[in-house]
Amino acid sequence: MAAMTNAQHSGGHEVVIVGGGLVGASLAVALDRAGIDTALVEATPPGAMPAVFDQRNLSFAEATVNALTALGILQKLQVPAGPIRQIHISRAGDFGRVGLDAAGYGRDSFGQVVVARDFGDALEARLGELTRLTRYRPARFIGFGDAAGRRGIRIAGPDGERLLQARLVVGADGADSAVRAALGIGAQVHDYRQRLFIARVRPERAPDGRAFERLTDHGPTALLPRGDRHYGIVHGVDADAAAAVEALDDAPFLARLQSVFGWRAGRFLGVGPRSSHPARRVVADDTVGTRTVLVGNAAQSLHPIGAQGFNLGLRDALTLAELVADASDPGAPALLDAYAARRREDRARTLAFSDGLARLSANPSPLLRPLRSLGLLAIDRDAGLQALLAGGAMGYRGDVPALCRGVAA
Ligand SMILES: Cc1cc2nc3c(=O)[nH]c(=O)nc-3n(C[C@H](O)[C@H](O)[C@H](O)COP(=O)(O)OP(=O)(O)OC[C@H]3O[C@@H](n4cnc5c(N)ncnc54)[C@H](O)[C@@H]3O)c2cc1C
Repeated sequence: MAAMTNAQHSGGHEVVIVGGGLVGASLAVALDRAGIDTALVEATPPGAMPAVFDQRNLSFAEATVNALTALGILQKLQVPAGPIRQIHISRAGDFGRVGLDAAGYGRDSFGQVVVARDFGDALEARLGELTRLTRYRPARFIGFGDAAGRRGIRIAGPDGERLLQARLVVGADGADSAVRAALGIGAQVHDYRQRLFIARVRPERAPDGRAFERLTDHGPTALLPRGDRHYGIVHGVDADAAAAVEALDDAPFLARLQSVFGWRAGRFLGVGPRSSHPARRVVADDTVGTRTVLVGNAAQSLHPIGAQGFNLGLRDALTLAELVADASDPGAPALLDAYAARRREDRARTLAFSDGLARLSANPSPLLRPLRSLGLLAIDRDAGLQALLAGGAMGYRGDVPALCRGVAA
């Protein structure tokens, strides 16, 4: 197996992270910064980018921007990020709408839009600088093995199987986590019966910092201002209509987007390559097991409409890094309990927020329509509710890790 190591190692580590996606790779940087001997196990071979680093547009909350800057990752971005200065949420056919302005909160922006592919390049550049990190790839986690006083981790690569040992194993291996399954932890899965199309759209007028969330009975659509004069779109479509939308040529696809959005963001002139994803919520029944913890999508995978998934997963990772940095044993039961307790509020509130937004656009019952409109109207008129929404959009929910607050930990 190609053990692509920044540092050579015998297979025993303080922490082994399974999954080098958005959250696992960010955690590796945070643990290295704290001086922890860490290994990163990733199924994708060197030179190839994990599939999650695709054309999706990631909206990084302010807390995420703070943390990724402190970790030296955002400085590696080769493409400018797009600031989100205002957020408009509206619902087709209803009278409710919400407008949030960062200036009203004393901020230049709520966060930044970055294309996942560009973020992957930046992360890879930063990972390449780490001197303590050991990388195993291509290598798949296939189960736990024996290790006295530690956790054994069985991984498989082109040269066969290998047993690693760690005092703490982190499952950062995505929504269908093999680590979660090996722990025997179940997950509650909800299928929103929507397909989400992602692409970049070229507008007549360059984006001016406004992000839009447009909710319709047939699914949500979000328009995010990128740093390259394009909007990134996430266009949610009923599962039953997905094949027909998939088959559309660019011109009718663009016309479809224009009719969903109207002229709020001006005329759309062109659309880049499209890809699509199913919309699922997967929530693990527990986030910790013996010398093991689940973070990011392995712990909870959300509907992307609220743009919260990675932001939440990064807060998992940085909370863990904070606790591990101060501990003599990173896998001690008390540390894992403290981790689960610190993540509880943020996890529950972010899940509820994303789910609420997704359901606002998924339930076509005319009886519920007035309630939905009243919900949006209430938010638009109530400063307290708005502040809650804005705080969430900026990534400040519950017990926030120091790096997210811009505090050097
Ligand atoms: C269309 C779309 C738009 C989104 N927009 C946003 C947004 O604006 N803001 C936001 O915060 N979030 C957004 N998200 C969510 C975000 O993409 C996820 O939260 C994020 O990818 C989760 O990161 P992760 O590292 O936990 O998991 P993943 O990114 O899924 O990474 C898992 C990694 O584990 C590896 N792996 C899997 N199994 C194994 C194994 N057995 N052994 C070794 N390695 C393994 C995989 O190769 C992969 O690299 C969006 C998601 C979608 C689908």
